Amino acid sequence: MTPATALDLAARRDLAVRAAVEQRLLTDDEPLLALLDLTAVRDTVRALHAGFAEVAAPGQQVLHTFAVKACSLVPVLRLLHGLGVGCEAASPGELALARAAGVPAGRIVLDSPAKTGAELREALRLGVAVNADNVQELHRLDALVSGASGTSGMSGVSGVSGVPAPAAGPGSPGTPARPALGIRVNPQLGAGSIGAMSTATVTSKFGIPLADPGAREWLVRAFLERPWLTRLHCHVGSQGMPTEVMAAGARALLELADEINEAAGEQRVTTLDIGGGLPVNFTSDEAVPTHAEYARQLRAAAPGLFDGRYGLVTEFGRSLIAKAGLVVARVEYAKTSGGRRIAVTHAGAQIATRTVFAPGAWPLRVAAYDPRGRPKQAQPVRQDVAGPCCFAGDLVARDRLLPRLDQGDLAVLLDTGAYYASTPFGYNSLPRPAVYGVTFGADHAPSLSVIRRPQTLAELVAESGG
Ligand SMILES: *Cc1c(COP(=O)(O)O)cnc(C)c1O
Repeated sequence: MTPATALDLAARRDLAVRAAVEQRLLTDDEPLLALLDLTAVRDTVRALHAGFAEVAAPGQQVLHTFAVKACSLVPVLRLLHGLGVGCEAASPGELALARAAGVPAGRIVLDSPAKTGAELREALRLGVAVNADNVQELHRLDALVSGASGTSGMSGVSGVSGVPAPAAGPGSPGTPARPALGIRVNPQLGAGSIGAMSTATVTSKFGIPLADPGAREWLVRAFLERPWLTRLHCHVGSQGMPTEVMAAGARALLELADEINEAAGEQRVTTLDIGGGLPVNFTSDEAVPTHAEYARQLRAAAPGLFDGRYGLVTEFGRSLIAKAGLVVARVEYAKTSGGRRIAVTHAGAQIATRTVFAPGAWPLRVAAYDPRGRPKQAQPVRQDVAGPCCFAGDLVARDRLLPRLDQGDLAVLLDTGAYYASTPFGYNSLPRPAVYGVTFGADHAPSLSVIRRPQTLAELVAESGG
């Protein structure tokens, strides 16, 4: 362990905020920025690999992918790729980001809910794995797979084996690997604590509803008729989903795969993609549950996942990166209204969209720093932490006990590495802030690098048809 990693998350946070201030990154033009503790990301990814390696069978294929939507920044995807984590893309834009990060097609999974014909064609051409969401999408794949082999009908499909093929050899430059094709199922296990994040309700818009009348039989038949279908996929929910329910989803996937393979008399399903969704603890610095705990829970619920018969794919997003991120906003003004203290900051709905619009589901910890970037020690008082948007509800914290925020102080939003700075909302034409990566040297000195430049007003005008 290097000396830097011996510092805990909170100590590194203080160093990073201080460094951002000392390097004068916060200005009138850029009173808002985001920081990503890359040391924390590396540690989390290492723990992910180790946690699954601990329960996996010797030699079992486990491909961890990162849900691009959780932090759709190319340098972050490149960093994760370097750490052995591929990409889960859910739109043509996310696929383009993964490609731009240099992630090979064979380490990308495409899960868009509304894939166009062109999107599917491109995925097959590249050799990106695709999980079909529904019957009509599967029929599009039928046509593409038979077309791709240059013959008509299902006789042509045997050329596409879903087994991830080795990368094109030197003798065949540019020949993409054959794509792995699968079907997303919805195990219909019910909702977690956040309805909008619950993808496995009875009427969810995602996947083939496993418990609907006839669905299971249809799925088995779909695989028997298509030797090129080799994967099953599910993603039970994102945040607020109990891990027992997630594990039950993985178990349902395993049982269905066993049933299909038994009916086929051979191993048709080779790979189970168990999705992401590990919840993040937004109330303290502690990462609970850990990926290792979840892996053990999966093994307990479905030992067959780890007996080596199936390759596994995971698609974690938030849990890999949330705790590494900070949003740092200058307090532009501090005022009182009706007896309520209000800090008017530069972080609101444009960067903390879910927190502002659904504060009950997405509360964030806020830390107070002084203008020199040191943690404020003042007596806590109740106050609102407001954003810069022109609507009354633009608050990231209401009636919160915090050291009193004054003009020039910094309001820092914790655990915001996923789905915050990288998922902006265009309201009020506020420019997208810079994102800086932070690493720590042997002497604990933080070093900041640009992950994303701040958006200029000229870019904003151009983007708005100017
Ligand atoms: C959003 C999503 C993920 C990642 O969810 P997290 O909660 O960020 O881990 C993985 N797979 C699919 C299909 C998703 O939609």
